[in-house]
Amino acid sequence: GLRSRAAFKLLEMDEKHRLLRPGGRVLDLGAAPGGWTQVAVERTAPGGRVVAVDLLPMDPVPGATIVQGDFQDDAAAAAALEALGGTADLVLSDMAPNTTGHGATDHLRIMALAELALDTALVALAPGGAFVAKVFQGGSERSFLATLKRRFAAVRHAKPPASRKDSSELYVVATGFRGREG
Ligand code: SAM
Repeated sequence: GLRSRAAFKLLEMDEKHRLLRPGGRVLDLGAAPGGWTQVAVERTAPGGRVVAVDLLPMDPVPGATIVQGDFQDDAAAAAALEALGGTADLVLSDMAPNTTGHGATDHLRIMALAELALDTALVALAPGGAFVAKVFQGGSERSFLATLKRRFAAVRHAKPPASRKDSSELYVVATGFRGREG
């Protein structure tokens, strides 16, 4: 069975936006307890490659490589990219900081994680690749959105039905990566 309710959010976004394909290489950031990782492994088989990163320890997911560490540390990011073979077709970030209850602080923290995920996507994605990140409820920041719109063919916000209970939760889904900047 699926390990987390979160898994359904990725299933729903995949149904709508066709993110996962057999043979796909996926970087799954903020992966514990592993629901998205399970979905990614299933939907990239056969031939896929899935690397899951989290601060927290996580039970093994057959078919995935797990890197435990803070993705804000260069060492963890380098280990994850190496395990992926340097290139991804999809970068997912469900990374979320522990909320402080102070709205402005929580906003800054979640956007810092989303921007870090985007920086990684911009160096790791193959042309045509896709990026999904959890963003702040108010929508994405202007500069973050501007970068996405410049580097991807389509950028949308998604509120998967499975996340309705978390009223503040929102994802950005960017598809059709235009390739690394020369
Ligand atoms: N997508 C997961 C699933 O399907 O099971 C749920 C992810 S949960 C909402 C968010 C995760 O982000 C937490 O497990 C947390 O430890 C992780 N996280 C937050 N900041 C992180 C960071 N800097 N580096 C790595 N993981 C981080």
